[in-house]
Amino acid sequence: MKAVLLDRDGVINALVYHEDAGVIDSPFRASQFKLLPGVPEAIRLLNDMGLKVAVVSNQPGIAKGHLKPAMLKTFDRRMLSGIRTAGGHIDRIYYCLHHPEAKVLKLRQRCRCHKPEIGLLEQAAEDLRVSLLECYMVGDGIPDLLAGARAGCRTIFIGRWKCEVCQFTEAPHVHAALIAESLWDAALLIQAEMRGTRPITSSYKCLSAQA
Ligand SMILES: [Mg+2]
Ligand SMILES: [Zn+2]
Repeated sequence: MKAVLLDRDGVINALVYHEDAGVIDSPFRASQFKLLPGVPEAIRLLNDMGLKVAVVSNQPGIAKGHLKPAMLKTFDRRMLSGIRTAGGHIDRIYYCLHHPEAKVLKLRQRCRCHKPEIGLLEQAAEDLRVSLLECYMVGDGIPDLLAGARAGCRTIFIGRWKCEVCQFTEAPHVHAALIAESLWDAALLIQAEMRGTRPITSSYKCLSAQA
């Protein structure tokens, strides 16, 4: 394997409960952008394994009028500087800014890059000069798993709630190849696979059954 493609919200940074709207969504303000524990170290570990690392993320918040493009840049700076504290780096960042019902007209479109479409993944693989078959796709949502599977990536689901994964039992094609509690755990699984110290078989199981 040559590269790791990462979803952003829920994988790299924490999701935010927006009290006013009563929804859990991406951060909208700088103070809401917080890296999840172990993320800088996880990315450093992936770097050290010689893997390229790219972010591939749907970010419809600008289209929906929740934030300005400059805020997305601010989040990028916070993300990259936080990762740098552990000596890690991200090679590329790709966002789909589109949304079919966008308030911002130029972003109102059905595109090829909004996961579960695979446009962002294809662009990342092309720029990183790797095959999608040589990529892990790491995400905390069904669109991440669908895009990863369609693109031929090895998928890793990040899930922190026990029963979250049960919804997937109904839809076999979205089963992740591997399940991890955090990006740090995912990096350890990748390390184990790359070293051949863990069998390359699906670790899919209902997490609640383990409890
Ligand atoms: Mg996510
Ligand atoms: Zn798009």
